[in-house]
Amino acid sequence: MDIYGFVGHPAKHTLSPPMHNAGFHELGIYAKYEAFDVLPKNLKTFVERVKNGNIKGLSISQPHKQTIMAYLDEISDFAKKIMAVNTIVSKNGKLFGTNVDWIGIQDAILDKTPIEGKKVVILGAGGACRAAIFAMQENKASEIIILNRTVEKAQKLAEEFGVRFGALSDFAQHNPDIIIQATSAGLGDPDGIEIIPKELLKSSMTIMEMIYNPMMTRILKDGQKKGATIITGEKMLAYQGFAQFELWTNQKAPKKIMLKAIHDNLK
Ligand code: NAP
Repeated sequence: MDIYGFVGHPAKHTLSPPMHNAGFHELGIYAKYEAFDVLPKNLKTFVERVKNGNIKGLSISQPHKQTIMAYLDEISDFAKKIMAVNTIVSKNGKLFGTNVDWIGIQDAILDKTPIEGKKVVILGAGGACRAAIFAMQENKASEIIILNRTVEKAQKLAEEFGVRFGALSDFAQHNPDIIIQATSAGLGDPDGIEIIPKELLKSSMTIMEMIYNPMMTRILKDGQKKGATIITGEKMLAYQGFAQFELWTNQKAPKKIMLKAIHDNLK
C-alpha cells in the first residue's frame, strides 16, 4: 500500500485525510493518507525517514512550509518564488517540493469569474498572501494591491513582487473587482471580525475567503448581503488538494467526491 500524508503542527484538525482518502477509494487506488504531527525540532529526522521509507507524497502545512525547503532534493520555480513548499512528491528516495496553494486560489476564483484584466485587492501579507499574489500575476490581473494591518509587511511584499500596497483602512480608495481575504482575522470565531466596513462591499465584487472555520466569515456574510459573489475558504483547500492528488497519482482527481468529503467533515 502507498502512504501519503499531511505534515504539520498541530495536525489534528486537518481535512486533507478524508479528502484524499475519498479520492483514493473512488478510483480504487490502494493507498492511504495519514496526518503526521511533526514538531519543528523533529522535521529533519522525519524527512530522512521519508527518503528511506514508503511514503509517496506529502502535503506540508505550517510551521514547516519554509523550513522543509532546506531538506529537499529539488524545488519547483513556483515554490521558490512563493518561498514555500506545500506539496512533496517522493520518487526513488528523492524528494521534489512544489507549491500548489496558488493553484487552489486561482482555480477557486476561476470557477466563479475570470481574473485577467481585473483589479484585485489582497487582504493580509503573510505566507498565504505570497501564493495569492503569484496566482494573480500568473493570471494577468490588471492591478494588484496588498492591504495589511502592519503596513511595513505589505510594503516589503509589494516591493518584492512589484505590486501596490497600503493599510486595511485604504480599502475605500480602491473599489476592486476581486477581494482575496488572506488574513487570519476571525479564524475560529463564529462572530468574526469586520476588517473591511460592510458599506464598502458591492454586488460587482467577487470575494474569496481563505478561512474555512467558520465557513461563513464576516466579510462573506456582509458581501453576500450586498449581492457580491462569494467563494468560501474550503474551495482553496479542495482545489489545491485536486492538484496534489493529480501530481501524486497521475489520474484525474474525483473532484465532487473529494469536495463532498470536506463538506461532510466540516459539519
Ligand atoms: P500568517 O503568515 O500568519 O499571516 C497572517 C496575516 O493575517 C497577517 O497579514 C496578519 O497581519 C493578518 N492578521 C491577523 N490577525 C489580524 C487581525 N485581527 N486584523 C487584521 N489582520 C490580521 O498566515 P498565512 O499563512 O498567510 O494564512 C492566512 C490565513 O489563510 C489563515 O487563516 C490560514 O488558516 C488561511 N489559509 C487557508 C488555506 C486554505 O487552504 N483554505 C491555505 C493557507 C492558509 P499582520 O501582518 O499585521 O500581523
